[in-house]
Amino acid sequence: ERVRVMELEEKPAITFADIGGLKNEIIEVREAVEYPLTRPESFEKFGVVPPKGVLLYGPPGTGKTLIAKAVANNAGVPFLRMAGSELVHKYIGEGAQLVRDLFEMARDLAEKNNGVVVFIDEIDAVGSMRTNDGTSGSAEVQRTLMQLLAEMDGFNNRGNIRIMAATNRPDMLDAALLRPGRFDRLIKIPAPDNAARMQIFKVHMKKMEAAGSLSGIDYDELVRMTEGLTGAEIEAICREAGMLAIRNNEDLITGMNFVQAIRKVKHQDKDEERRDI
Ligand code: ATP
Repeated sequence: ERVRVMELEEKPAITFADIGGLKNEIIEVREAVEYPLTRPESFEKFGVVPPKGVLLYGPPGTGKTLIAKAVANNAGVPFLRMAGSELVHKYIGEGAQLVRDLFEMARDLAEKNNGVVVFIDEIDAVGSMRTNDGTSGSAEVQRTLMQLLAEMDGFNNRGNIRIMAATNRPDMLDAALLRPGRFDRLIKIPAPDNAARMQIFKVHMKKMEAAGSLSGIDYDELVRMTEGLTGAEIEAICREAGMLAIRNNEDLITGMNFVQAIRKVKHQDKDEERRDI
């Protein structure tokens, strides 16, 4: 069960070349997370204290997890992930214990590997504003949050445990999480604009291109047709276009396959919205 809540990638395989767009965001994350690990002496020399925790916020499927993994890869340290959503609905005391386990494991990994990137996904699940309507902020969730705050207060900004978190709902977060010495650097990861969607298509079509299996692709048209879609959806479109070509026994993946794939992924989105209602 704990394995599901925590995920360890000793050597994450994601690199910055796997990320389309987000150039400035990547620079900011590297400065806050990677350089304190790879050149701590620069921070010492200039008397700069790196942030304690970095919060990535923005819509789902836009590359927050990718950036965190790529930074860990670049720094040559393991990537330890915990999903906030899996900490709730636990028995009393279990959420707090899992947070303790997470940081114990982080300390152990950091010692053995000269650092670690800890990534707490969907932190809003444990760190939402205290409410009295019973919908969130139950006593158990509060205990889990308190443990997380205590753990963050318990180590040094200059240490080699770099803490990152992600949320789609920054507005919901408890202010205690955002105080100096906790998640004190906020970086927005936006939905991709035209140029970024073009680059994301290129990332996910790289293998098709290398295999010489593409024909008649109008990238500008793909970008136009995917206004408002995320990186995760563009990845799904590329996979679907390939599947269509395979299913129809075609020689090459064509622009038409992509157009059909875009329609399909867009309709799936609509179906999901309908289910939500
Ligand atoms: P969530 O909030 O749902 O956890 P996230 O922002 O962490 O989302 P990721 O897990 O990083 O999203 O992205 C999901 C998948 O979508 C990635 O594995 C990747 O294939 C694709 N993807 C998302 N953004 C990008 C991007 N900027 N460039 C390339 N691929 C992307």
